[in-house]
Formats: sequence, structure tokens, C-alpha cells
Amino acid sequence: RRKWRRVVGILQDLEESCETPLGRLRQMVDAVAVEMQAGLVSEGGSKLKMLLTFVDDLPNGSERGTYYALHLGGSYFRIIRVYLGGQRSSLQVQDVERHCIPTSLLNSTSEVLFDFLASSLQRFIEKEGHESISSQDVKRELAFTFSFPVKQTSLSSGVLIKWTKGFAISEMAGEDIAECLQGALNRRGLDIHVAALVNDTVGALSFGHYHDPDTIAAVVFGTGSNACYLERTDAIIKCQNPRTTSGSMVVNMEWGNFWSSRLPRTSYDIELDADSLNSNDMGFEKMIGGMYLGDIVRRVVLRMSKESDIFGPISSILSTPFVLRTDSVSAMHEDDTPELQEVARVLKHLGVRKVPLKVRKLVVKICDVVTRRAARLAAAGIAGILKKVGRDGSGGGGRKSDKQVMRRTVVAVEGGLYSNYRMFREYMDEALIDILGDDVAQHVVIKAMEDGSSIGSALLVASSHSVR
Ligand code: ADP
Repeated sequence: RRKWRRVVGILQDLEESCETPLGRLRQMVDAVAVEMQAGLVSEGGSKLKMLLTFVDDLPNGSERGTYYALHLGGSYFRIIRVYLGGQRSSLQVQDVERHCIPTSLLNSTSEVLFDFLASSLQRFIEKEGHESISSQDVKRELAFTFSFPVKQTSLSSGVLIKWTKGFAISEMAGEDIAECLQGALNRRGLDIHVAALVNDTVGALSFGHYHDPDTIAAVVFGTGSNACYLERTDAIIKCQNPRTTSGSMVVNMEWGNFWSSRLPRTSYDIELDADSLNSNDMGFEKMIGGMYLGDIVRRVVLRMSKESDIFGPISSILSTPFVLRTDSVSAMHEDDTPELQEVARVLKHLGVRKVPLKVRKLVVKICDVVTRRAARLAAAGIAGILKKVGRDGSGGGGRKSDKQVMRRTVVAVEGGLYSNYRMFREYMDEALIDILGDDVAQHVVIKAMEDGSSIGSALLVASSHSVR
């Protein structure tokens, strides 16, 4: 009994340190907006890098042609071909391939990584039908969707700032990513032009905007998490000569690196960070990214297992970092069988057998606490962007009239965590309404998308062509 009390104590501590009451979320919203501003004023002015993307005109539906996108995400890479017929309704995704990134690539070399991508693209193209672009004697145009922080120098070039999400390929920081891919394609004799280097969030915004011009921001909740939004160029103070014709530019926030002393941090977060390849970095991502939620839950269960006997003998599997993945967390969290069979199944995989129903319920509670915190922090992040652009109903953003007339605002959202984890979605939506209030929230649409970041990147190549 004393052991059970100890476990309940650990759970209570977890709940307390993960608390996200509305007041704290509002402080977070303010902090996000303040940090965004600081990151726009000067290089290095904030943990939010607020990177320029050189995307000023978003696609509008009139684009034409056949384009490719290759997307290197955190856990997956995808290749797609899209056909654009000059109006929205004629967009066709002609082919999509999605593969897991082999873990051996994560700490390989630049040559191995880019040759792997080039060979995947080669296979994709080789299986195209006869009526494809190859018979039309036109050079293939490719967008490289790249879900890691890049300092762009133009729409089609930029250097890697650092790896995140478990990637650790040495000697690549500072390299031009588009050039690396182009080199690998050339070495294989592929006649493909890397026409754009696009952050995945920017691709998602582009796709969202293509279908709905009220879309002003995009957020990705996948292996990692990041956001971008459309900013007025005169607000991007750190950039003297932004060279845009539209008066605005998409800014890649790299919000995974957001930090505030008000974030509800637990001892598990601190340990996870210390054990990670990129400690003291990406603090926000480590609380909300799909790569990490499972590992936070695992650390809590492990501590309970060490401090009590309710999980039986300590399982060596449970001691292995990242063995509990977030898809298993959602499976346990959303287990609606009366005996919590799914929870039992996942625990068995972790080397924990025959736990009573009471203990299974406890595990569900841990999943709930960790995911609820993530979702509510994510909502505060989105509200922070809305505040920065004056769409949160507070009358900020330099335009007084915004308070009277709330404009419809669409935020495009995608990523495996959001699309597959219903409880995450529900907690996030609920928190956003709590933060904004019903009156404002009714003007804010969260629009879920699939493959938007890849398709949207291809659209950006198309729209940059139509400008020229
Ligand atoms: P990536 O971020 O690798 O580009 P996705 O956007 O598809 O790719 O996100 C994949 C991530 O989404 C996985 O790493 C995992 O963390 C999360 N995920 C996938 N399926 C689920 C699920 N059923 N429940 C919760 N999270 C999931």
C-alpha cells in the first residue's frame, strides 16, 4: 500500500508541474508575441530565429505545369508529383511516395544522405508513365521541402543552421542544402533542377493559401514542431532590403526553440534534454513534438517502476530511450476497451506484463497529463502568432479597427501528431477557444491538411515561375 501511495505521489507531482491554467497560457501567448518581435528586430535577438524565407507571393490558383517535391521530414521522406492546370480545381496529385527514413541515415554522412535522396527520386521518376513530363522534353522542376532550420539566401538556396530531431550528420551545418541535393542529382545524371528550398511549414502555408486566401499561418505538429506566418516587411526590422513586391514575407519562426521561464517544465523534461543530442536547444519542441511525448511518458513510468513494484521487476526495455513512441501513447490514451487491452499490449512490448487494471488506468492518466500539456502549449503558440499579427481580438498589430471588425483568419495545420492523435487535437482546439474567447475564436479556423507541405512547396516553384 505504501508503494501505491508513492506512485500516486509521483503522479500528483507530475500533474502539478504540468499545470497549464489559463493565466499561465496567457503569459505564454504574450511571451511568444514578444519573442517574435525581438527575433524580427535583430539577428540573435531571440531564441526564435524568425528566419526570412524569400517567399513573398503565395500561390493563388492560377499556376500551371508539372512539378515535383521531395520532402525530408523528421521520420519520413516523401516524393510527390503534382499537375497544375491553371485553376484550383485542376490540381492533381499524380503520385505520392512516403517512406520511413532509415535510422542509419541519421548519423551518416552528407554524401550518403543526399545520394539516398537522389536515388529515391531516380526510382520515382523511372516508374513514371509514358505520358509524363519526360516525353515533353522539359526539365523537371523540384522543390526540396526540408524540415530543419535553414538560413535562406534566396528562394532556392540556404545553409543548414543545425540539425534537430535526432539527426546528427556531421560537417553539414553551414552547407548549402539545395546545392548538396543538386550535386547528388547531377552525379546520377538526373536532369532535375532544384528550384526551391522550402521549410515544411512554409509549404503548408503555401498550400493553405492556395485553397483559402485567408490563411496567414501554418503550424506543423509531427516528429518536431514549427510554425510560420505572413509578416509585413516593414516589421522585419533586421532585414534592410527585403526585396518584396507584395509588402509582406513569410517568416519561418523555428518555434521549436522557443523558451520562456513560464513554461511548465518537469524533472523528466530536464533529464530528456540532458540525454538528448541537442541539449539546451529546442526546449519547446521537446515538450510538444511527437518525437518526445512518448519518451516523457516512458520516463514517468520508469520512475514509478523504480520507486515501487507496481510494474513488477524493472524492465530493461523500459530503460531504453525512445522505445515508447507517441503513436503508442495515443493508442493507450484512446483505448476504449473496458479492460484497457491496448494499454496492456503496449506495456507488454515494453517488457511490463500482467499489470492490474488500476495500474493501466494510471498509465492512461500519465499519457493524458503529458499530451494535454503539449496541446495547450501548442494552442498558446498559435494564439501568440495571432496576437503578433493583430488577429487575437486585442486590437494589437497596429490597426485599431481590428478590434471592431474581426477578420476571418485561417491557420493551416498538419503533421502526424495532429492528424492521428484525436485527444491532442481536442485539447488544442479547446485551449485555443479558452485563450481567445468565443467571440474571437469563431473567426479563427484551424484547417487540417495532409501532404500540404510537399504540395505547397511544389506550388511555390510554380508561382515563382509565373512571376518571372
Ligand atoms: P514528419 O514530422 O516526420 O515529417 P509526420 O508529420 O507524418 O512526419 O509526423 C510523424 C510523427 O507524428 C511521428 O514521428 C509521431 O511522433 C507522430 N505520430 C504519428 N502517428 C501518430 C499517432 N497515431 N499518434 C500520435 N502521434 C503520431
